[in-house]
Amino acid sequence: MSEPVIGRLAPSPTGRLHLGHARSFLAAWWSARHAGGSVVLRIEDLDESRSRPEYVQGILEDLAWLGLDWDGAPILQTDLQAQHEAALARLVAAGRAYPCVCTRRDIERAASAPHLGETGPVYPGTCRGRFSDAQAAWRASGREPAWRLNTQGIGVLRWSDELLGPQVSDLEAESGDFVIWTKAGRAAYQLGVVVDDAAAGVNQVVRGEDLVLSTFQQLALMRELDITPPRWWHLALVGDPDGRRLAKRSGAHSLSALREQGVDPFEIVAWAAQSLGMAGRAQSAASFAPSFAWPTPGPQRSNPAVAIPAAWAGA
Ligand code: GLU
Repeated sequence: MSEPVIGRLAPSPTGRLHLGHARSFLAAWWSARHAGGSVVLRIEDLDESRSRPEYVQGILEDLAWLGLDWDGAPILQTDLQAQHEAALARLVAAGRAYPCVCTRRDIERAASAPHLGETGPVYPGTCRGRFSDAQAAWRASGREPAWRLNTQGIGVLRWSDELLGPQVSDLEAESGDFVIWTKAGRAAYQLGVVVDDAAAGVNQVVRGEDLVLSTFQQLALMRELDITPPRWWHLALVGDPDGRRLAKRSGAHSLSALREQGVDPFEIVAWAAQSLGMAGRAQSAASFAPSFAWPTPGPQRSNPAVAIPAAWAGA
């Protein structure tokens, strides 16, 4: 018998949700519910400089408005510090992680998922092998260190996306040693997502295709931590009618703005369903779950572009 499906919704409370999030969350929810599986809601609030309680509230309202539910209480990543520390300690003990005192942008940004255009240059390994431990790094620099995963020797990583097909990367050359722990004393996005998905038993991950590169880093961490990888579906990013990517921080095309304009959530559900190849009139999210099927990938194995309808473009 196959294992029970556990999917997840993993929003960051750094802004209001937009139509792109709605589409990914509906797809994640349909995929899990269609299989009779459960859904975890994990609020990714590790970036304490950008996370706000009012956005957590907004996420809960928006998901309920769309008709999405989840099993158990929402999980806050900042409540999971102990499991993050245990994972870091294991990587350090295995000699796979090292303290880094470089003042670089990738360290500043590591608390959040790196979305399109946010992956920085490959780290040259400046601090690799430089300090015996965190205290030595602190003494030498007067700064709290971040921690990086040593990618030397990991070699070529391969996985197969359910929509995009086979993926391959030489992590050391293409990503370099990446940040797994921030100077603020929190797990970086890449470590948090791996540890918390595993702790919740998540075996289906549905998210935007700008996180494909992150998946290699996550796969490397899974290998080091003996975690079985989930199945991954990376979806097209949703653009506005002019083909521009929807930006969370601008608040444009947010679900709350659409709600204020009187847009019916069932229309958004129907749009998302149609964009995933399902036919059907505007109805509740739950009504699409029984017939949900992932689109069969074309021979090109690339996601077709998805734009929001012109009628919603002004929101
Ligand atoms: N919390 C991330 C974001 O909102 C998503 C991470 C993921 O799905 O792995 O961008």
